[in-house]
Amino acid sequence: MESTITEPIAAMPDLRTQALDILSRTFGYDAFRGNQEQIVLTLAEGRNALVLMPTGGGKSLCYQIPALLRHGTGIIVSPLIALMKDQVDTLRELGVKAAFLNSSLPLTEQRQVEQALLAGQLDMLYVAPERLLTEGFLDLLGRVTPALFAIDEAHCVSQWGHDFRPEYQKLGLLADRFPHIPRIALTATADERTRRDMIAVLQLDDAPVFLSSFDRPNIRYTIVEKDNGRKQLYDFIRCQPEGSAGIIYCLSRKRVEETAEFLRGKGLPALAYHAGLAAAERERVQDEFLLQEGRIVCATVAFGMGIDKPNVRFVAHLDLPKSLEGYYQETGRAGRDGLPSEAWMSYGLQDIVQVRRMLATSEAPVEVKRIESRKLDALLAYCETATCRRQVLLAYFGESLPQPCGNCDICSDPPRTWDATVAAQKLLSAAIRTGNRFGAAHLIDVLLGNDTDKIRQFGHQALPTFGKGQDLSEAAWRNVARQLVALGYLLPDDEGYGGLMAGEQARALLKGEVSLHLRELATPKPKSSRKDRTQAAVSDLPPEVQRRFDALRVLRLSLAQGQKVPPY
Ligand code: ADP
Ligand code: MG
Repeated sequence: MESTITEPIAAMPDLRTQALDILSRTFGYDAFRGNQEQIVLTLAEGRNALVLMPTGGGKSLCYQIPALLRHGTGIIVSPLIALMKDQVDTLRELGVKAAFLNSSLPLTEQRQVEQALLAGQLDMLYVAPERLLTEGFLDLLGRVTPALFAIDEAHCVSQWGHDFRPEYQKLGLLADRFPHIPRIALTATADERTRRDMIAVLQLDDAPVFLSSFDRPNIRYTIVEKDNGRKQLYDFIRCQPEGSAGIIYCLSRKRVEETAEFLRGKGLPALAYHAGLAAAERERVQDEFLLQEGRIVCATVAFGMGIDKPNVRFVAHLDLPKSLEGYYQETGRAGRDGLPSEAWMSYGLQDIVQVRRMLATSEAPVEVKRIESRKLDALLAYCETATCRRQVLLAYFGESLPQPCGNCDICSDPPRTWDATVAAQKLLSAAIRTGNRFGAAHLIDVLLGNDTDKIRQFGHQALPTFGKGQDLSEAAWRNVARQLVALGYLLPDDEGYGGLMAGEQARALLKGEVSLHLRELATPKPKSSRKDRTQAAVSDLPPEVQRRFDALRVLRLSLAQGQKVPPY
């Protein structure tokens, strides 16, 4: 027995020593992080690997070091054309012979790079997938021996992923054309479904999966119910340490511009970034954010991929993100230095109605819509959860956190739930009796018995539900309405003007066959009742800091159900 195992073990330290040598000499680090070392050695030995590691975890070294260790050029496929140049420049400064090939490069330079590849003068070559897949380029690769293929942002193969790229689906041909060259696929998206797609498309069935923990314990998660999003955002920023750098994600270019302007009006160093700006301006904003301290960038999701700024102190979402994967990636840009950081979001009824309607009216294939709708449900379940947010988030990525984290709004101030069956029935029947076409505001007017023009115009004061909801405040009704939409009891109607209709699910509830527990709308407690130490301390803080605690308190609303992430 002994003699059979001495050989591989004897071979290991050699590669390991070489890898450590490159790590320190070329990259200037003294130790590998997490499972970087195992991944590097797997590749260096010529085996494939699938790497699931959160943003900022250090995926690049996992292929850069084996590319240097192995004979030939490491070929790195990346969808981020805009960032290739930066990555290559950084590598060149470290003395690595790196180049990139994409459509942004003048033709003569493209030829030069190809020549250098053929002449064996490159350690690493970054290439866009559409270029890699050309017959001409594959031919070139056939004439050299690549050290490895690294497929970065590999979730792009999956329709389920948040960033599907059709060209990525064709990368499976690398396995057919170059069966002996090791392939490594890397991503920060780790849900089961995306993982399966990556393995299938990239033919990685035999590859070990390296899964790092996705927990980012230094990030605190908070969600507030939107009433005046921008003002809430400003209050949140004012509670951050002076000069904190942050990113604020908005859904549209227009919102980006308006938010940046609003914050500048408040004296904050806010910049705007979206795909509609000239390339030079985008670059200027990016540089200013990276190089100057304390800048706040208002941006669409176009901003941030590959941005490596360690001390981003907060990431705020002024609108609902597209999915939990997107949310996780975006919030993951905060606190890469490991220091306490904030992930803050405001969301309200309108956001849900809007995304639900976009989904309903989208012309995407049925299968895609089905996936999108499940993802939306998972996102909303996260927003509305009554249990630790980190547990919900990590569960979605297939990881379980045994204890509540103690570092999210829910843990700091657990929400209460109440039996909202009767209230939900009232709201649903108000929707049905008014013809399934009015918005939440009008339905609430009906329940409260308000005398408005619209009520009179439609004769709604004659309805049996009119004035039957005076036991709850308007805010409490809005809270009920939001949760009913989040849970799919109320759906946007077909007209597209914000009207709501009772969904299929509503039937059992109306018949009294099921009951419904919802999160309570908390009323801020008077200061004098703050008994425990932290709360006593809160009342001694300056008003802007207290406001932050109050903002946290807005989300006490809870859902007895709905905290479970739907199966993918
Ligand atoms: P990812 O691609 O996973 O988001 P990167 O590869 O861009 O992450 O690495 C994030 C940061 O961590 C970079 O600044 C990188 O230099 C640093 N880093 C990676 N590995 C190590 C290590 N072993 N020791 C110290 N710093 C590291
Ligand atoms: Mg990366």
